[in-house]
Amino acid sequence: MDFELTNRQKQICTLAREFAEGEFPEIAREYDRREEFPRDLWKKACELGFIGVFIKKEYGGLGLGFLEFAMVMEEFWRVDPGCGNILLTSFGSELIQLYGTEEQKMKYLPPLTKGKAIMGTAITEPDAGSDILSILTLAKREGDHYVINGAKQFITNGSIANYLLVFCLTHPEAESRFKKFGTILVETDRPGFGATKLTGKLGIRASDTAEIRFSDVRVPKENLIGEKEGEGFSQIMQLFNINRVIAASQGVGVAQGALDKAIQYVKKRKQFGQLIGAFQATQFKIAEMATWVEAARALTYKAGWMIDHEKVDPKLISMAKWLAGEVGVKVANEALQLHGGYGYIADYDIERFYRDAKIVEIYEGTKEIEKNTIARELLGKL
Ligand SMILES: Cc1cc2nc3c(=O)[nH]c(=O)nc-3n(C[C@H](O)[C@H](O)[C@H](O)COP(=O)(O)OP(=O)(O)OC[C@H]3O[C@@H](n4cnc5c(N)ncnc54)[C@H](O)[C@@H]3O)c2cc1C
Repeated sequence: MDFELTNRQKQICTLAREFAEGEFPEIAREYDRREEFPRDLWKKACELGFIGVFIKKEYGGLGLGFLEFAMVMEEFWRVDPGCGNILLTSFGSELIQLYGTEEQKMKYLPPLTKGKAIMGTAITEPDAGSDILSILTLAKREGDHYVINGAKQFITNGSIANYLLVFCLTHPEAESRFKKFGTILVETDRPGFGATKLTGKLGIRASDTAEIRFSDVRVPKENLIGEKEGEGFSQIMQLFNINRVIAASQGVGVAQGALDKAIQYVKKRKQFGQLIGAFQATQFKIAEMATWVEAARALTYKAGWMIDHEKVDPKLISMAKWLAGEVGVKVANEALQLHGGYGYIADYDIERFYRDAKIVEIYEGTKEIEKNTIARELLGKL
């Protein structure tokens, strides 16, 4: 048992923190206000090797683990969650690396780390959110092609992506409900593809989110990820395992960032002739916030470490995702409270953190779905 980060991990965290602290603060408020993806920032992050750190070296990445990816995400979200989501421009590459053919990996992974392409993963539909088995987007095989029809909702990078992994019904006739699906890579310049950017999000407004439509979109059969058919559901579950840890690290990051801001503020602000940090009520709040952050981080790191050591544990992953999401919301809420009225206006970054934190309780599986997973593993099928 060793709780010490390796020198390499410490170095990665330091580099990620320095990049985020050097680049994000100046632009974060503006990109949040404009609800715009920070393209130049993404390019810089690619040049420095931050995008797709888990992608193997032969496909253009650094060949690090998902724990290291989570650490970079945490450092980025600590400084600004909206800007931090530039790391999601490779969302779905995990699945290509795990299940794709050699040709697919060579074709689609290097452009992501080099700043030449952005991708995303489209699972959610207007009538199929938590219940992903009820998706309706149909990929019908016609000769050497799939013809895709359907709609996807709330897709990260949907209006800026060069390609998307799309979770489709490929074998609606299959007996097993888990064998009806395929994951198909769709280039977004194909005829019949449409994306509409969603505006007015509560938080992470620098992160692009879009509605997608597929009207007779034809893609070659080689765009099905993997060599076996009917494997889409298990592929997507594995992607969730990884990305729930990454979402958990977002919760840890936003919580740590909010705590940092609260500590700074209570050491400056005076009321009743003393620093508000000198009130025991404030000290208890700070102590509780720091403890929650530490607990969420420990669970997140453990879940990530286990993935990297081929001991994937969906129960632990769901625990990390649920706890870190809730800690993000709780700590941001308390941190805003400690800022009083100033926390409620956009001049102070805590207002943005409070809005940004909520998403971790929703995407990559809502907190209720995480609890379902935990309970199912503990109780079995009742
Ligand atoms: C900013 C943003 C980015 C996103 N990015 C992506 C993306 O890149 N790709 C993608 O595919 N999706 C993405 N999503 C979609 C996201 O994953 C879904 O919103 C989420 O899974 C919930 O689905 P839903 O919104 O349809 O809610 P619903 O599933 O309708 O849930 C509504 C409520 O009912 C509860 N509920 C549902 N079922 C149960 C149950 N069995 N037991 C208890 N409670 C239940 C939920 O927990 C929730 O509180 C994104 C969403 C947002 C907001």
